[in-house]
Amino acid sequence: MMKGIVWFRNDLRVHDNESLLQATQDNSEVVCVYCIDPRWFAETPFGFSKTGPYRAQFLLESLHDLRQNLQSLGGDLLVTLGEPETVVIELIALHGINNLYYQLEAGTEEASTEQAIVDYCNAKNIAVHTSHGATLYHMHDIPFALDELPHIYTNYRKATEQKSRVRPLLPTPIAIYTVTNVASNPIPTLAQLGLATPETDPRAAMVFTGGETAALQRLHHYLWGTEALKTYKETRNGLLGADYSSKFSPWLALGCLSARQIYWEVQAFEQQRIKNDSTYWLVFELIWRDYFRFVALRYGAVLFQKGGIRQQPGAWHTLPKVFNAWRLGNTGVDFVDANMRELLYTGFMSNRGRQNVASYLVKDLKLDWRYGAAWFEHCLIDYDVASNYGNWNYIAGIGNDPRDDRYFNIATQVAKYDPKGQYMHHWLYS
Ligand SMILES: Cc1cc2nc3c(=O)[nH]c(=O)nc-3n(C[C@H](O)[C@H](O)[C@H](O)COP(=O)(O)OP(=O)(O)OC[C@H]3O[C@@H](n4cnc5c(N)ncnc54)[C@H](O)[C@@H]3O)c2cc1C
Repeated sequence: MMKGIVWFRNDLRVHDNESLLQATQDNSEVVCVYCIDPRWFAETPFGFSKTGPYRAQFLLESLHDLRQNLQSLGGDLLVTLGEPETVVIELIALHGINNLYYQLEAGTEEASTEQAIVDYCNAKNIAVHTSHGATLYHMHDIPFALDELPHIYTNYRKATEQKSRVRPLLPTPIAIYTVTNVASNPIPTLAQLGLATPETDPRAAMVFTGGETAALQRLHHYLWGTEALKTYKETRNGLLGADYSSKFSPWLALGCLSARQIYWEVQAFEQQRIKNDSTYWLVFELIWRDYFRFVALRYGAVLFQKGGIRQQPGAWHTLPKVFNAWRLGNTGVDFVDANMRELLYTGFMSNRGRQNVASYLVKDLKLDWRYGAAWFEHCLIDYDVASNYGNWNYIAGIGNDPRDDRYFNIATQVAKYDPKGQYMHHWLYS
């Protein structure tokens, strides 16, 4: 009798989940586990933890939902507060596991955690099965070896669209049989992670609820419910409200929603409702997301270093007072402050906002971009290692931007995107 363990990471779903599906096919019994890593909540040299309250809350909600979805298939989810190198290895030994399944992640810390577990499995003759479920185009299908990845997005996108196909969705397992004697435990609370429950700010663009169930509802709402997808290309630079953009990012980041699921739903929408520039543009943005993930895999540790993937550090300072004013939305520049307060009080910020506040930190305040990236990592409910650090590299001029001189002039941006000052008023004066 074969026994498998699925180590869930940023693939918190039962739909289109290669690791879960393969584990249920290869084994008569499986253990599903998620490790909440205490290192995510320890203070970093930046003066705050990697994971703040909004992101942690979204994660816990996603875990509750995944547990429920696994239970409805006959399985369960063990959620443990502990380092995966310890927890996964202990479970393998305790239950006499033959096969390990997990999704490969992009960051260097993620990779070193993986390595410790793989080393153990190799020593004990336990088969390791990895999957690449996070991207739209499967990593093995793109027309480039990682070390030949084009430096410019457009070159990557055009070749990929021409030569590759998005794979079909994988089916959800029909049934899951859990290894006997696996004790289901309560999912830790925010308080156990050392965090207070964050307030729900009535000014928030929308209420984000973690988990696959809410993700699929949002997908349905944005396409079939409101048909907001029809006008995405025109509205995507918006700042206020729920539907100017898809808001899929928090669910994509934790893998509550698969990028392929979005893609195939967009194809259906194009057949049944309308195909236009907007329907294409959502896919275009998902290809950006893929690209940053492949960039992260290609460059590894340099993505996080001061000089970024170009290895060209700027003359940036670390001025704690100036950084704190930026972080807490007290710079005195209304557009920057409004966006930073939205982030602080909700864990979300629009793409237009992110570009502006990041550019302001690096090019106007001349602060080290890594401080800004670390604050985004702490706050953003959609934090994704590759998208965050890839975009920060890009804005800081040390990444994949073909232009060296890109600069977001705040006054010009306000005139274009918040001409009546409604967004600034919403966050600063209402
Ligand atoms: C400095 C900076 C940091 C960022 N950090 C993150 C991050 O940690 N996590 C994250 O998911 N996105 C990040 N982004 C990208 C982008 O801002 C968000 O993906 C987007 O605002 C999420 O809202 P949405 O889902 O409504 O996007 P939509 O406009 O509806 O786009 C659809 C999807 O396409 C993808 N996407 C769109 N733009 C980008 C982009 N520039 N880079 C990568 N993927 C993109 C996202 O998955 C998004 O959900 C960052 C951008 C900047 C400028």
